[in-house]
Amino acid sequence: MKKLIIMLLCLQTGVTAWSQNRFEFSHPQMGTVFRLVFYSSKDSSEAKALAKVVFDRIDTLNMRFSDWLPESELSVLCQKAGEKGCSRVSAELADILLVSNSFARQSRGAFDISVGALTRLWRRSRNLKELPEPKRAARALETVGWRSIKVNSATSCVRLSKRGTILDLGGIAQGWTADDCLAMLRENGVTTALVDAGGDIALGDPPPDREGWQIEIPSASGNKLMLLKNCGITTSGATYRYFELDGKRYSHIIDPRTGQPLAHRMQVTVIAKNATTADAWATAISVLGENGWNSLKKKPEIKVWISESPL
Ligand code: AMP
Ligand code: MG
Repeated sequence: MKKLIIMLLCLQTGVTAWSQNRFEFSHPQMGTVFRLVFYSSKDSSEAKALAKVVFDRIDTLNMRFSDWLPESELSVLCQKAGEKGCSRVSAELADILLVSNSFARQSRGAFDISVGALTRLWRRSRNLKELPEPKRAARALETVGWRSIKVNSATSCVRLSKRGTILDLGGIAQGWTADDCLAMLRENGVTTALVDAGGDIALGDPPPDREGWQIEIPSASGNKLMLLKNCGITTSGATYRYFELDGKRYSHIIDPRTGQPLAHRMQVTVIAKNATTADAWATAISVLGENGWNSLKKKPEIKVWISESPL
């Protein structure tokens, strides 16, 4: 599970004023559980069929974006890192790489999907309960650098110019996929919908007779309750996935500048125009810290709420 701390309220309504039925389906994928909630005049078998189409799409995207599966499109691309020619990739992979590079540029490298060698190294440390050897950590850090990810948007051709670079889309893939599912529901005539990818949430039109989807975010300083629609929201932070060694915390988020996992207990909530943007910036601001975020000269159009984690 990623960071499921956002609680969705107001989901108990059954049949609405306009005889729209409320449907809810879930599907485990990408290390989390995807949840669809939508309102529609469809009957239950039609709604179930639509949910299956969406879940099949999530499975397909997992085969494109996973850094766990050696046969995924992403993993095959990484095996060619350092080679001369470029590889043609799917439109979906080209798009997520392009937007990731754009978030990397805007966040001055705090968000960087080329941290894969480091995330692997630290995952291994978590399993073995020992810190990585400094030499290995230095070698992994050398493979990091978003500028070495060259994407030609016109031809969907990608080249990873540094040998050993491993891409990790864990900081953006759930948000991107949630947006994609919401778009798919809209194409199928369902606009009143919510897609929750384990805390990366894409919201469509609000439930019937409501101003928005009611969402609550717990924090040490008190919970925040919001009514939201047609946007994305994510909460991220150093404390939701971590391990402890000799009394020190090591988060699943890596600072690409130092190669070290974050150790603070900050929690960052971002509301943005979509879940992709919210997901990437919540990770980026966790790395930047409050001062780094405040000192960014060109800020994106997002709402940010930084608090102390309740955990
Ligand atoms: P999130 O939970 O959305 O904040 O994303 C954290 C996940 O993104 C980690 O588990 C890694 O897979 C990946 N990741 C770690 N550090 C970074 C980083 N600095 N930039 C981009 N992705 C990262
Ligand atoms: Mg993220």
